[in-house]
Amino acid sequence: MRYCLRCGYPENHPLNIIFDDQGVCSGCRVHEEKDNLDWDERGGKLATLFDIFRSETGDNYDCVLPVSGARDSYFIVHTVKNVYGMNPLLVSYNRHFNTERGIRNLAYLRTLLNCDHIQMVISPETVKRITRETIRRLASIYWHVLAGQTVFPVQTAVRYKIPLIVWGVHQGTDQVGMFSHTDEVDMTRKYRFEHDLLGLEAVDLVGGPEGLTEDEMLPLAYPHNREISEVGVRGIYLGNYIRWDSKAQHEAMLDLYGYETAEQARTFDTYNDVDCQHYSGLHDHIKFLKWGYGKVLDHAAREIRLRRMTREEAIEKISQYQDVAPPDRGRFLEWVGMKDKDFDACIDEFRDPRAWSKDSKGKWTLRDSLANHRDDPGTDEVALGKVEDCEFRITPNKDPGADETKNKILSKGFVPENHSS
Ligand SMILES: [Zn+2]
Repeated sequence: MRYCLRCGYPENHPLNIIFDDQGVCSGCRVHEEKDNLDWDERGGKLATLFDIFRSETGDNYDCVLPVSGARDSYFIVHTVKNVYGMNPLLVSYNRHFNTERGIRNLAYLRTLLNCDHIQMVISPETVKRITRETIRRLASIYWHVLAGQTVFPVQTAVRYKIPLIVWGVHQGTDQVGMFSHTDEVDMTRKYRFEHDLLGLEAVDLVGGPEGLTEDEMLPLAYPHNREISEVGVRGIYLGNYIRWDSKAQHEAMLDLYGYETAEQARTFDTYNDVDCQHYSGLHDHIKFLKWGYGKVLDHAAREIRLRRMTREEAIEKISQYQDVAPPDRGRFLEWVGMKDKDFDACIDEFRDPRAWSKDSKGKWTLRDSLANHRDDPGTDEVALGKVEDCEFRITPNKDPGADETKNKILSKGFVPENHSS
């Protein structure tokens, strides 16, 4: 396998990367724009855009902001509301895999930033059936979340006639350099279908083994093009106008709002995705079993590009985290109602043969890893040089006595045994 000589991304990255003649990937090259573009000018462009969309009469929200109990939510809301003076409507899709910490972070977000907020919660039983269906079809436990969090903001924009949605960073631009920042790409149905949804639309799940109906899939269906163009809905990415540095942004927001971070089992990043039981656990382990690398490399590649980590240090982090078994697998399988071997069989079908080989006894072996490419020729020539250390903070748990491993009422539709209906 070929690995980027700078960030270490492998050639089988599912969003596709290309290498230049120095062995540096497209993601790293586009990332260099962060140090070359005039970000003050780009911030001015954002201000002009916001002026166009600001509600003139003041009788509607100025924009829809998708948020969760983690990721860049605090930074996005703070920037859009407090820096640019917009009146946002916050929207979130309930993943059903919430940690208590994530529920608190989201509650504090709307309180501390004084925003209106609406949330979509699909019936817990339907979510379970969709999840079983997508495990079989795509080896994904997370499809419903990806579908929900990318469509509910669009549905809300159409329903409330709010023509602007403001997203954080465009993953295709930030990870693999699919676009330049100056392309100023907007949200598209096509990107969502091909990358977020892994090529499977809500309607494609109707009538499968789980017997899902069109009505049940309606909350995950994209609005009709006609409805979108009637409102003139546009979705922009802040990362095209603001120099995106997730870690620095989190730390500025932690100082202002003091939300909760947490240690995670399979990565050193204590800021992103602490609101979800499975994203950095089982879901990430499945990513590793499919592609031969996990989230820890996404985080390390990001830190290398921002000059806080060397490639050598990234390899150490990957060795430390890549093979960690997800602590939540048993609990998840119990909830979804699948046996270990059936679940494994679904995942194995999606292992990338470029990353994994199977012997005659059915045992899978990783063909290659970044750790085997420490000293690839040309690595030193393209290294950026570290300018600061990469320390992630852990903030105090606001409810230290809580058992984070229990299924709670706001997570997975758990109902206590003594509940009487
Ligand atoms: Zn790279």
